[in-house]
Amino acid sequence: MDNVVDLGSFAAATENAFALLPGDFYTKMPPEAVGVKPRLVHANAKAAALIGLDPKSFNDPVFTEIFTGHRPYPGGEPLAMVYSGHQFGAWAGQLGDGRALLLAQVRNAAGELWDVQLKGSGKTPYSRFGDGRAVMRSSIREYLCSEAMAGLGISTTRALAIIATNEQVHRETPEPGAVITRLARSHIRFGHFEHFHHNGKHDLVRLLADHVITGYMPEYKDDHAAWFGEVVSRTAHLIAAWQAAGFAHGVMNTDNMSILGLTLDYGPFGFLDAYEPGLICNHSDDTGRYAFDMQPAIAHWNLRALALALSSLIPTDTLIKALDTYESIFRSRYRALMRAKLGMVEDRTRDDDKLIAELLTLMDRARADYTLTFRGLSDPGEGSLMTSWPLLFAAEHVAAVNWLARYRARMESEGDRCPAMAAVNPKYVLRNWVAEVAIRAVEDQGDPGPLDRILRLLQSPYDPHPGFEAFAAPPAPEFGGLCVSCSS
Ligand code: AMP
Ligand code: MG
Repeated sequence: MDNVVDLGSFAAATENAFALLPGDFYTKMPPEAVGVKPRLVHANAKAAALIGLDPKSFNDPVFTEIFTGHRPYPGGEPLAMVYSGHQFGAWAGQLGDGRALLLAQVRNAAGELWDVQLKGSGKTPYSRFGDGRAVMRSSIREYLCSEAMAGLGISTTRALAIIATNEQVHRETPEPGAVITRLARSHIRFGHFEHFHHNGKHDLVRLLADHVITGYMPEYKDDHAAWFGEVVSRTAHLIAAWQAAGFAHGVMNTDNMSILGLTLDYGPFGFLDAYEPGLICNHSDDTGRYAFDMQPAIAHWNLRALALALSSLIPTDTLIKALDTYESIFRSRYRALMRAKLGMVEDRTRDDDKLIAELLTLMDRARADYTLTFRGLSDPGEGSLMTSWPLLFAAEHVAAVNWLARYRARMESEGDRCPAMAAVNPKYVLRNWVAEVAIRAVEDQGDPGPLDRILRLLQSPYDPHPGFEAFAAPPAPEFGGLCVSCSS
């Protein structure tokens, strides 16, 4: 074809490292080429930069063809990965990329290896009863949320493009389909290790651990025990970041846990609107296993499942010692993040802990908006702190005024902490109602405008973005407590 972008020269060079592992790890196959005349809905220049891809390529039809799987990725060796996992606490056996495909891996200018993965690109040998498809609704949610997390500085997979397949996908009702391109340093999950361990293939557990160490954590070469300690630490840091940001993942099965400590597999997630520690955002989670306040303990449970999967590689007492570090790493990281949110620098440990706990209790009682409560403290320019901030606490506003007085007395010696606080307390998070605005515009009007605008707010969530304050607002009552279906 003339006059089309040659991705081979527009993106970083491919280096398909996972495809060099033995065939036990994947099925090599091309994507199914789903849909008819796929149409680009949105592409993300920030993510493109990670793989050295020139945004000029977005307008070329070849871009859309490649990232729906209608044309091969130049130099790619497409494959579906196999993994297993524990789902809702029970061993689920073999899972794997049922609707995802690793198109290629590329080495960027910074020397980092990145996965380029399609999601919704058709069936694979691991599809089980699924159709290999993804719906537009959840693809937009994943697209926005992965970039929102990156904007917040939280480790995550990224999203390059979202493409409409022009076909209906059957869930509870027929819905428009989509393919999303995900980028990540790696999509390897705890469940990959569980897969080989529980199938008795201990040599492959070792091979995979060494693959991860060589490719992504070379400082742990020849030291599996220290490497596992690092996985524990990264996971504890990730969960602390989720808790401080008010993010509920919704489906923390071990197959959704990244070995690199990334937020992975966005499904029925939610950011807290009203502070509700027991929030269950997943419609299918009857027992609340994955409630917001359960996440720190569940991550530990998942790390134990990983430890078991590594028990042929690392002595049990070493694994147990590493697991035992989780709680203190989580606690100290969470505490540091919450102190930063409140601008506390001088260490007055016991009193500060009490003040933070009292605020959270009050927020819980008043169902105060999580994001606005912290942002309000860091941004007094948006109204008098003493008069407008306590209004977030409705019937508890008198208690809020009292807390505020004590907080201000505590902070007197700290100087002006507002700029530093505004840099860690976002104004914009991906509230469900905001995602819904983007979804409705794309699905009902074919208009990617709101999606584009919301993406930009979320990519720099600490900036004020004058004129777009409406997107920082809590949900109208009819939207409140939106619970998201697992079907996607
Ligand atoms: P998830 O709940 O999205 O993390 O997926 C759990 C498992 O089900 C993974 O192995 C997915 O690949 C697979 N899966 C989810 N949805 C589909 C689908 N529509 N078609 C095929 N496999 C799917
Ligand atoms: Mg998953």
